[in-house]
Amino acid sequence: MTFAAQVAMFSKLAEEKGMVNSLEGNLSVIDRQTGNIYITPSHRAKCLLTEEEICIVNPQGEQIGGTGKKSSEFFLHEAAYKARPDVGAVVHCHTPYLSAYAFAYRDFETPKDTFLSQIFGNIKCLPYGAHGTHEIHQGIEEALDGRPVALLGGHGVVCVGEDLEDAIGIMEAAENYAKTIAIKHKLF
Ligand SMILES: [Zn+2]
Repeated sequence: MTFAAQVAMFSKLAEEKGMVNSLEGNLSVIDRQTGNIYITPSHRAKCLLTEEEICIVNPQGEQIGGTGKKSSEFFLHEAAYKARPDVGAVVHCHTPYLSAYAFAYRDFETPKDTFLSQIFGNIKCLPYGAHGTHEIHQGIEEALDGRPVALLGGHGVVCVGEDLEDAIGIMEAAENYAKTIAIKHKLF
């Protein structure tokens, strides 16, 4: 399967899971051989995307393929790949429970010695940076150092994985985890 086809297929899955929609969230993969990033276009329902629409951006930041307009959060994806040369995919979304921590500018401190805390560690919150600018990823190297998820202050969440299947799985588990902790605080 081509890189663009992977992005189109997993975009549909992410929208079916309620992680992204036409206005929120973006997904990408990187070809580490060429350094090209394949990213979802702006303002399209992710579940309807075709392989031809996926934007191909070269290491100089120029769009060299795809009929869509590259996501305005391209810089965030580029920074995540620079911070983590070992990963192949990035997912950015605004899922509500983790985003609530981001809007409170709080790290999500996972309960110690649980299975999920071993995967996520304490999820760090970056300072606020305006949408679509380089400020949005200030501190991402430290936040993603040994951890797959980071919060974007006043905005949302970013997650890295080996590939999109891995990244979406991590994102879903982290969001569920934040939801469980919120319910626990409410009930007990
Ligand atoms: Zn966003």
